[in-house]
Amino acid sequence: MPRLSEGSSIADRRTLAARSVIRYSRGMAETIFLKIIAGEIPCHKIYEDDQVFAFLDIGPLSSGHTLLIPKEPAETLDQLSDESAAALGRMLPRLSRAVLKASGATAFNVLQNNGASAHQAVMHVHFHIIPRFPDSAEGAGLGIEWPAGTLDNETGQRLAADITAALAEE
Ligand code: AMP
Repeated sequence: MPRLSEGSSIADRRTLAARSVIRYSRGMAETIFLKIIAGEIPCHKIYEDDQVFAFLDIGPLSSGHTLLIPKEPAETLDQLSDESAAALGRMLPRLSRAVLKASGATAFNVLQNNGASAHQAVMHVHFHIIPRFPDSAEGAGLGIEWPAGTLDNETGQRLAADITAALAEE
């Protein structure tokens, strides 16, 4: 696949995005994030390579709230190819360090929602990098409710066995 660079024309970007859609999605509805990748919608771009794209979230929970997305238009993480997953995994720590340095935060959350009932609004895989400013009244970052349950031994053994068996079929 040809590379995109800062100097790539809008036409180049559209061609690449179109190829990507044909290659990966076969008819999946085009999301706002694909339009951002294609340069059809403006964004505050941070990084781009063959496989991933990073930009500022338009509705930030805190200063520096950044999104990292694959160019592959998978809707949810479980649908993503190993190739794109590896590219995202390589980029996340590097991008997180840059967000921390630029925002001045020392803590951050990485959030990744899958499915509307799990708070996913844009149906294209994305990782939120959200700096945390706990003492800030506004823009403190991600607030988390964590209604922890308990795990008894029998349930734990059954669940671990079920997931291990499912993993073996992957
Ligand atoms: P999620 O709830 O995980 O699907 O989050 C989607 C995120 O995409 C939200 O935080 C939005 O603020 C962000 N978003 C939606 N449209 C845009 C856009 N045009 N540019 C940047 N971020 C966007």
